[in-house]
Amino acid sequence: MKNEDKLNVCISCNRDETIVPLVAITFAQQPTWICTQCLPTLIHEPQRLVEKFRSMDIDNTVDRQID
Ligand SMILES: [Zn+2]
Repeated sequence: MKNEDKLNVCISCNRDETIVPLVAITFAQQPTWICTQCLPTLIHEPQRLVEKFRSMDIDNTVDRQID
């Protein structure tokens, strides 16, 4: 599995770092990324982000389809 071309994506909106600036965060011991436009969501509605983290499939490694 090649990782060198993998782009980081926002956990909330899934836009990648070529589109939006991403900020590294960590939550529940899981480091991830969030874009600046989603940061207000994180600040004001953290529960929505908790759901995103819960929906992350921890058992499966990231195997994103890249078009
Ligand atoms: Zn975002």
